[in-house]
Amino acid sequence: MEFNLDTAKLLIFIGGLCVFFAAESLFSARAWASGRLRRLGFHLGLAVLNTFTIRILAFVPFLLWSVKVEEEGWGLSRWLGLHGWVEIAASLVVLDFFDYIWHRANHRVRFLWRFHKGHHADTEMDVTTSLRFHPGELLLSFVAKASWILIWGPSVVAWFLFEVLVSLCAQFHHSNLDFPDGVERWLSKIIVTPRFHAAHHAVDQHFGNANFSTILSAWDHLCRSYARPADGGATTRPPGSLGLPEGRDTASSLRAWVEEPFRRRNLNLADRPPA
Ligand SMILES: [Zn+2]
Repeated sequence: MEFNLDTAKLLIFIGGLCVFFAAESLFSARAWASGRLRRLGFHLGLAVLNTFTIRILAFVPFLLWSVKVEEEGWGLSRWLGLHGWVEIAASLVVLDFFDYIWHRANHRVRFLWRFHKGHHADTEMDVTTSLRFHPGELLLSFVAKASWILIWGPSVVAWFLFEVLVSLCAQFHHSNLDFPDGVERWLSKIIVTPRFHAAHHAVDQHFGNANFSTILSAWDHLCRSYARPADGGATTRPPGSLGLPEGRDTASSLRAWVEEPFRRRNLNLADRPPA
């Protein structure tokens, strides 16, 4: 069962990557500033590294933990007696909110920001940016996820759907795909759209300290962290308006990328998180 769900997750992930790569080629928001294949190659390299790191260090402990929580019947969702579609829908909403808090913490807590900033050092944004995470951030996120499992106790199906949705939504909102203003405005009232999330990656910190949601855009509205991108994507369209200056040199090699959070200058107090 687990193996099948895992394979399904991988296939959906690859499928999503291909679909959004094709879609952003046809309906691009921003002009392509640098070689797309080079970006794809570097970010795919990171994805392979991250997959192996997680497989070796986090996969089995996380699986055992999930089974333990289920056997013990821990978690609010079980105490509330939720099941079927109600449990799945409630789990997706609750887990998405946990993810919102976690993302915000990544910007707020200096130690977490050290790992997350590599993601924001990307000076462009396309579907491959959704692969751009430091293995340290992903390992830390498994500690966070283990606590979500304990607090909420989602079913196996709900957890699977949540992970699939997170990866598809991340591919979608990082992509360089654009919609007409009206569609974008309407869609971003419900889910995180490319313009909504590009504002989170903007150099202009008025925008960069906002829009932390992953699936539902409601969290930023409810928690007062929403910044409305200008119509036409003007917030993020001029060249040089995306990505933080820090860590921009790290994309030169995989080694530099992995070492960056551990460099001495990161221990410097001047190197503060942007929020
Ligand atoms: Zn972020």
